Amino acid sequence: MTTKRGFTTTLLHADRLGKPEHGSLHKPIHTSVTYGHEDVQDLVDIFQNKKKGYAYSRQGNPTVTALEYKVTQMEKGLSSIAFSTGMAAISATIMALIKHTDHIVASSFLFGNSRSIFQTYIDLGLDITFVDATDVENVRAEIKENTKLVFVETIANPATQIADLEGIGALCSEKGILYVVDNTMTSPYLFNPVDVKAGLVINSLTKYIGGHGNALGGSVTDTGLFDWSIYPNIFPGFKTQVKPEALGMTQIRKKGLRDAGGTLSPEAAHSLSVGAETLALRLERACNNALALATYFENHPKIKKVFYPGLESHPQHERAGKLFAKFGGLMSIELDDSIDCLAFLNKLQLVVKSSNLGDTRTLAIPVAQTIFFELGAERRAEMGIPESMIRLSVGIEDLDDLVEDFKAALEG
Ligand SMILES: *Cc1c(COP(=O)(O)O)cnc(C)c1O
Repeated sequence: MTTKRGFTTTLLHADRLGKPEHGSLHKPIHTSVTYGHEDVQDLVDIFQNKKKGYAYSRQGNPTVTALEYKVTQMEKGLSSIAFSTGMAAISATIMALIKHTDHIVASSFLFGNSRSIFQTYIDLGLDITFVDATDVENVRAEIKENTKLVFVETIANPATQIADLEGIGALCSEKGILYVVDNTMTSPYLFNPVDVKAGLVINSLTKYIGGHGNALGGSVTDTGLFDWSIYPNIFPGFKTQVKPEALGMTQIRKKGLRDAGGTLSPEAAHSLSVGAETLALRLERACNNALALATYFENHPKIKKVFYPGLESHPQHERAGKLFAKFGGLMSIELDDSIDCLAFLNKLQLVVKSSNLGDTRTLAIPVAQTIFFELGAERRAEMGIPESMIRLSVGIEDLDDLVEDFKAALEG
């Protein structure tokens, strides 16, 4: 199939133009755990990476493969691997590629659970340095002889800092370091990390790609830019089995997915695939709603601060405008000291008090009391998270209804 078609056209017709089963427009949900082969040689070849095919569903399933293909198309990559969650994708990728003697540089503005698993790796003996990744010079200053990987997010959650994505990409390619970008907050509709020289791209499929808050999933995509043939941590056996460009993903599929077992179910893969068909439409609408709401909040006397890359007051507004198709659906607000943040949230009738983001519905959560509670007040202050911060994941409702709901809660 040609890959020159547009973003949404490609997604809508991917299953039908691949190898359709019975003319099925969607890839069917294959529930078999194991796969039988008439000639045992086929089974042997699959085990030895000599042939593509299915043996046991923990490391591959046709319904999941169809979703992986779509993620690869969206990210303009070489290949992708799907996981049960975004966290499974992140932890499997790090575990498969890093050894205890290695060093990692990570953004200090990370999704809370990502920060937490990196802390677990530190407890296991890994050397990880956290830096303010909005300036490449902070990353450069921490690069050591044994630095193997740099990990950043596009738009940080909840304070919306934007990493120096281009600068870090140039630095990593100059030094031959693997550059891993978590693209969840932008999604491949707004941004492709391959354009800033990322080697691997992570997505939580749970968020914008699936988009309806009805299935968990994650993915890692190989952009094809990183030279795996010189990466020292590749299991020697793989080098004789697969082409050099496939070494990284083979290692992640075997050592990460197969051995740690964070496998995506075929039912979830189907839901995520259907959700992805409307990613462009949903995100256009959510981004437009978010910009309108951010502007409304910025002019409201009871709002102290608005964190949204689409506002000119945002420190990386220019960078966001240059790199991203739109400014995203996520924002945070800080209320005036005279308003109790929890009481305000309870006045909202339409907006749902809920975790998660990238849902079709608008969701609001008090940050310090929930997703960043475990960190404690000191670390929150370090990360630029005010105690009265509210994170909003703006959905695709009719804008007037959203404005009305916030207006009533602020003024009622
Ligand atoms: C939600 C999220 C994840 C984790 O994804 P899950 O599918 O919930 O495991 C990772 N990174 C970012 C930026 C996220 O927002």
